[in-house]
Amino acid sequence: MRYFRWCFVVLLLGLASLPARADFQVFACEPEWASLVREFLPEAKITTATSYLQDPHYIEARPSLIAAMRRADIAVCTGASLEAGWLPTLLQRASNSAIQPGRAGLFYAAEHAQLHAPHDHVDRSMGDVHPEGNPHVHLSPDEVPAIAKALAQRLGQLIPEASGDILARYIRWRGDWSKHRIEWRQKAEVLQGRSVAIQHTNFSYLLNWLGVDSRFELEPKPGLPPSASHLSQLLAEPELKDVEAILIASHQDPQPANWLASQIQKPVLVVPGTVNDAGETQTLAELISMIVNTLEATVQEDSGGRL
Ligand SMILES: [Zn+2]
Repeated sequence: MRYFRWCFVVLLLGLASLPARADFQVFACEPEWASLVREFLPEAKITTATSYLQDPHYIEARPSLIAAMRRADIAVCTGASLEAGWLPTLLQRASNSAIQPGRAGLFYAAEHAQLHAPHDHVDRSMGDVHPEGNPHVHLSPDEVPAIAKALAQRLGQLIPEASGDILARYIRWRGDWSKHRIEWRQKAEVLQGRSVAIQHTNFSYLLNWLGVDSRFELEPKPGLPPSASHLSQLLAEPELKDVEAILIASHQDPQPANWLASQIQKPVLVVPGTVNDAGETQTLAELISMIVNTLEATVQEDSGGRL
């Protein structure tokens, strides 16, 4: 009898804690942060402002996004000025007092990471350069765990009754990430010292980590579309012929990459710049594995399978 009473109490406690979690509304600026939130709080209701087919620098602050921001309990964004063109408008129009700079309801991933290439001085002549450093940190095997830890802590702070579950899921996620990291390290052995041309610095953290050179960029300056004159300058670089491929993201215009590839007879690799609903790239770890495998296959093909 006592046992049943105990079960009843546990059931009631369980039910009491459900609404807070199930009603928890998340506004994710990019799909990568939506997927991380889902890892730690699968029951959260998430609105994602951008998709892998969009450039996260430039979207419109449309009314449906303002409404989603207004009802959100937390906004999870990249920061480091990535969303400088649209997030301030959204924050201001939504006027959600929980989601303001300095409040627990506004989480910037970049604040929990060591960014590459910060600049002391930035002016318009440099293109769309972010003074804080390269904000495209979501494919960094080293930085994502620090962001994930801070995010799990923040979610636990906002929903204390779920903090135990969130912590347990984070620990499982962290173990899983470490296993993947070992695999990526092994695959990096064949990639080390190779080079690829890129359109923008969105894959740079991962490429640097793999030891892959990505100094040839199709954009003449960050954020400016590839121009004919810049592409012909690139063609004049003797070391361009050493690249394995031109790596671009699904949201980037493939034409400049295709043109350059035809000139140097190298393949164009198009991979998602972030997670999406496809079976093999739903989480950040899956996406990194997919990109690493794509690069590995290209290098092996280039060497005629002699690796
Ligand atoms: Zn960028």
